[in-house]
Amino acid sequence: MQIAVIGTGYVGLVTGAGLADFGNDVTCVDIDVSKIEALKQGKIPIYEPGLEALVSKNVQEGRLNFTTDLPTAIRAARAIFIAVGTPPRPDGSADLRYVEDVARTIAQHMNGPKVVITKSTVPIGTGRMIEGILAQAGNGHTAAVLSNPEFLREGSAIEDFMKPDRVVIGASDKESIELMKEIYAPLHSLEIPFVVTNVESSELIKYASNGFLATKISFINEIAVLCEKIGGNVHDVAIGMGLDSRIGPKFLQAGPGFGGSCFPKDTLAVADIARQYGYNFQIIEAVLRVNHDIKERMVDKVADALGEVAGKTVALLGLAFKPETDDMRDSPTIPLITGLQSRGAAIRAYDPQAMDNAKTMFENVTFCRDAYDAAKDADALVIATEWNEFRALNLSRLKSLVRQPLIVDLRNVYDPQRMKSEGFRYFSVGRKA
Ligand code: NAD
Repeated sequence: MQIAVIGTGYVGLVTGAGLADFGNDVTCVDIDVSKIEALKQGKIPIYEPGLEALVSKNVQEGRLNFTTDLPTAIRAARAIFIAVGTPPRPDGSADLRYVEDVARTIAQHMNGPKVVITKSTVPIGTGRMIEGILAQAGNGHTAAVLSNPEFLREGSAIEDFMKPDRVVIGASDKESIELMKEIYAPLHSLEIPFVVTNVESSELIKYASNGFLATKISFINEIAVLCEKIGGNVHDVAIGMGLDSRIGPKFLQAGPGFGGSCFPKDTLAVADIARQYGYNFQIIEAVLRVNHDIKERMVDKVADALGEVAGKTVALLGLAFKPETDDMRDSPTIPLITGLQSRGAAIRAYDPQAMDNAKTMFENVTFCRDAYDAAKDADALVIATEWNEFRALNLSRLKSLVRQPLIVDLRNVYDPQRMKSEGFRYFSVGRKA
């Protein structure tokens, strides 16, 4: 199947490489000339484990190529995946301008029947909106518009794409559904469940899933607050809850609040969608407030541990919103850094992959070579992202570098008793210091 994937970011690039690996002929398109030039030279613009090998294999085998020439890619393709960004507007609604731009370009260059598939996370009604734009093309060609939301997680995107829990397809005609099964043939034969529904339900499945996961994270974060007040241990509470098969153990790790390019914007968007339909989605509105407050609590947690913040140096270990990615979008470290800076702290920071992105976002942060470099003369070490390399730090070396042995572990990586016996003042989330 000849496929065009429009938008070659985290989702577009993984989708393009994955669909090529399934045996399709894929052209990945982007308006970012430098991104496409880099990809043509075999350079992967993002950090995602396994992606470089998958891209290079499929390029070499002749099933994957890159271009900025959208009209040619549209004309050559039978199926067109839209994977451009849908960032939040200031009011929380999803900004659809990139999706609309792409739909207009498709309309202009249709040269035969096309299947247009939204991979981007888009509000309910977007499929119909694209249909409207394509119907105005006026060149006599028809297009079926489908929804096929993506559920991959950055950091394990290849595995998630190649072995998803389910493939969701929103479509209204049989022919398009069969075409999607052909595109995803290897998953079909692996007996991965295909959920086939109408376009609106498919669009909502994505928001409902992310809204639910964000709720689960916020729930355990509030349980952590309660644990701190009653002298409980959130880790034990999470295990006790998670062993209930109706609850399950995933997404019950207390921490500094959810971040990244999806949960914050998708919870804002689902609240906005509900409002537009005259409904107050109370749980999601509460999740948004809780997540905001949890992030503020983290600043307070570091400040309380330090006593006086002004003039102190904080070493931040981790910047990305989670390990195994370089993505800084909506990372909880952003309000943490700005909050501590506004109280007069100096920040030294290190992240294994996200430093290049972080450097464009912060002023007056000293970016360091590694965790030990960051620790030099620090009054507090803050573990902000649970990269594996922060799980086995040389504690005596750290102790010799810092100004005072104080660790604030926002990811509960270490055992409080052990840290105490190593001579650190140690604070974590939802556990007794
Ligand atoms: P991204 O910002 O990494 O990539 C978007 C790409 O689209 C950019 O490279 C941009 O240059 C390109 N683009 C914009 N306008 C274009 C146009 N007119 N023609 C061609 N290319 C254009 O975004 P992302 O993280 O890949 O997310 C894309 C969509 O997928 C969003 O809707 C997001 O919510 C959804 N999603 C993301 C993830 C994730 O983990 N990142 C997971 C599931 C779903």
